[in-house]
Amino acid sequence: MIRKWTKDGRNYFYYKTNQRIIHFYPVVSARYEVMKDTCIPTGNAIDAVVDLEIYYQKGHEYNLKRMMESMKMSLDYYSTHFSPYQYKHIRIVEFPRYRTFAQSLPGIIPFSEAIGFMMDIDDKKDVDMAFFITAHEVAHQWWGLQLEAANVQGQNMILETLAQYSALMVFKEKYPEAKVQQFLKLQWDEYREATLESKKEELPLVLVENESHIYYNKGALVMYKLQELIGEKNVNHALKHFLYDWRSFQNPPKQNRYATSLDFMYFVMDVTPDSLKNVVTDLFEQTNCFVEEDSFIH
Ligand SMILES: [Zn+2]
Repeated sequence: MIRKWTKDGRNYFYYKTNQRIIHFYPVVSARYEVMKDTCIPTGNAIDAVVDLEIYYQKGHEYNLKRMMESMKMSLDYYSTHFSPYQYKHIRIVEFPRYRTFAQSLPGIIPFSEAIGFMMDIDDKKDVDMAFFITAHEVAHQWWGLQLEAANVQGQNMILETLAQYSALMVFKEKYPEAKVQQFLKLQWDEYREATLESKKEELPLVLVENESHIYYNKGALVMYKLQELIGEKNVNHALKHFLYDWRSFQNPPKQNRYATSLDFMYFVMDVTPDSLKNVVTDLFEQTNCFVEEDSFIH
């Protein structure tokens, strides 16, 4: 905030971003408590401190630690494996449960109390979704804010499926394999249920439109399978190069357009050995390969 004044009984605030951002920002206002911390993401420059802040309603302290830890681990993982984090702060801001979503905008993540702050998580039997959703939203600082996707079929594969993959890799660092499998089983169940209810013929992941059970649930399963097949290191290598080639601000968009899922597939195929190219292609481009639960969940 640069300036603040009052005129004719009305309050005025003048804000300025400290770097270029896409034209996409929220206005969130309340009497907040603030949890603060700082970190230097492991992939950022040595002095690139990031302020971490969670704005929350007093009394809603239950999952703050999970969310704060997830923010830190996510910034570390993504800055190391994809590219440095681009802002000087990252903020999570609570809002009431009239709506139940979280959304990432440049440096700020409005987050419903219903899906993070007020979740009752029992680590013995539950999956830590406060941790996972935080990691997913932080991933959008890369997928959506560093790299924008063309508004065509497959757009949500780039934005949402890659956020799911990124979050899953952070989740895998924090939680044992059994929890990862429990998460994947939830994805499988939601995907199957929505597929049975859907009246539309299923589109392959690379051509997904607005079917959330495909870009979220099936997307997570496909990307997890991909890193099992070709290795996490190779998947990250592909993502890093995809990002460097197509991100919006550091370079002008290639060929005056934004990235598509087919551009992404080019980088995936580049790190896939010949012996696995058919299997990997089917995962993304076919629908009929995706019928056996036990080929995805162990
Ligand atoms: Zn998302």
